[in-house]
Amino acid sequence: MTATPAITSLVSALGALEPFADPIDLLNYRRDCSMVAAGQAQLAVQAASAEDIVSIVQAAAAHDTPMYVRGGGTMYAGGANPHAGGLVIDVSRMTRVLELDLARGVVVVEPGIRFSDLTAQLAAHGQTVGIVPSTGPAATVGGALSSHALGTGSARHQSMGDCVAGLEVVLVDGTRLRTGSAACRDAGFFQRYCMGPDLTGLFIGADATLGVVTAVALWLYPLPAARSTFCLGFPEPAAAGRFLVDVQARELTRQVWYAAGYEAGTVRARVLAAQPEFDVSRLPGYCIGFDIGGERDDIARDEARLAALASEHGGAAFAAFDTAYFNKLRLTENYWYSFAGYFSRSRCAILMTSLPCDRLADLCAAVDALRARWPAFVWGAATVVCRRGLHGGVMAFYDERSEWPAIEQAIEDATQVLRGAGCVPYKSGKLWAQEVKASGAYHQVLRRLKRELDPKGLLSPGNLGL
Ligand SMILES: Cc1cc2nc3c(=O)[nH]c(=O)nc-3n(C[C@H](O)[C@H](O)[C@H](O)COP(=O)(O)OP(=O)(O)OC[C@H]3O[C@@H](n4cnc5c(N)ncnc54)[C@H](O)[C@@H]3O)c2cc1C
Repeated sequence: MTATPAITSLVSALGALEPFADPIDLLNYRRDCSMVAAGQAQLAVQAASAEDIVSIVQAAAAHDTPMYVRGGGTMYAGGANPHAGGLVIDVSRMTRVLELDLARGVVVVEPGIRFSDLTAQLAAHGQTVGIVPSTGPAATVGGALSSHALGTGSARHQSMGDCVAGLEVVLVDGTRLRTGSAACRDAGFFQRYCMGPDLTGLFIGADATLGVVTAVALWLYPLPAARSTFCLGFPEPAAAGRFLVDVQARELTRQVWYAAGYEAGTVRARVLAAQPEFDVSRLPGYCIGFDIGGERDDIARDEARLAALASEHGGAAFAAFDTAYFNKLRLTENYWYSFAGYFSRSRCAILMTSLPCDRLADLCAAVDALRARWPAFVWGAATVVCRRGLHGGVMAFYDERSEWPAIEQAIEDATQVLRGAGCVPYKSGKLWAQEVKASGAYHQVLRRLKRELDPKGLLSPGNLGL
């Protein structure tokens, strides 16, 4: 692609920051980990500080150049894909812990810090931030909150948004906005709700459409004295769903740092891989793994309560899945689904949804229907247990070179099938842009905010249908 005069002029305006304009260098900035089509940036620049972000945004705005922001590039919704071309602002070098305030209970970080680096630094102080994605070694804090990727990552800590005490955001005109208590003169970050409406929330899940996040204040939690995993097996998903309704109604998830549900096929594959001689007649029809943190006696008490409640729904402890899979997945907090393994068929298309627990059986039936309709793909479904309801991920593994047109149709079909099963699409980036657009008053207000904060529409065009 030949550089336009505006891009050539922008390259020289950003000269001190050594922007990349070579097409080879720009290949890395074409897409995230989603199935959303790649974009083509004309320029990319690595920012090292909030001051850099101010200069970059002001220069790009002066050249009417679209700009996209990239953290770890691991999201599955295409938010970082530069569909309108222009500039990609890479924040992955902004990795500093700016403030660790144990008295106020907040840590303030630059947006490019990886979760695994942050948790390692905090562990030295006996602290953690509660929510950690399985992409911890690659995902950045800024990317996770901007895509609200960790929509419902933890029954105890709820969503990524619930972990944020305040933000610093650079707006398209270069203004540095601080939210929460830090919005007040001479005050620091410690309270999310301070005066007037919650402007922090405006930027959570905004996918870089309203500003660039340059600092994030997260609440701290003491690391639990002990951590333990255990798994419960159920005869079928409906029984597991009824059990979860009961668990949530009784708030038995207060010490559950993470819990996830697995279909029969996944349980079978993991258990038999670890124990080929396992008696298959003992395999459950659905399995739920719990990761509980607290004092040792609290953990033992919670496990006993959950097991007793499970027995009322035909469930029982199922240690084989814990040993074969769940324990390894959780207790090394930074375990990462290796991308090589995860995308072993070349690529994985993921649809995220939210659903009430009593629709769990419908989700599983919907995925079975997709397996029957689209047998060329390997389908998988996993659910994360929230404080209320479930977060569901439906995955289809495909070969990118040969199966691209078919997977697009299959995913469109899956969207409708999941909606029919009572699932609510989880909207971020470009994947569900049409759904966001169809949300009536919500999208109209979003567009008005966008016009006010980014009148020329330069920030991440296409994300959230904006
Ligand atoms: C294999 C796999 C497994 C996963 N497992 C889990 C899981 O178990 N639990 C879970 O909750 N999530 C999971 N995720 C989601 C994962 O956590 C997200 O991909 C991740 O949080 C996004 O962070 P990132 O830094 O890669 O963001 P990016 O992909 O770089 O960006 C995401 C969005 O945020 C925007 N953005 C990035 N930085 C900024 C900034 N500083 N300011 C404004 N906007 C910004 C981008 O423009 C984009 O729209 C998984 C994803 C994959 C691919």
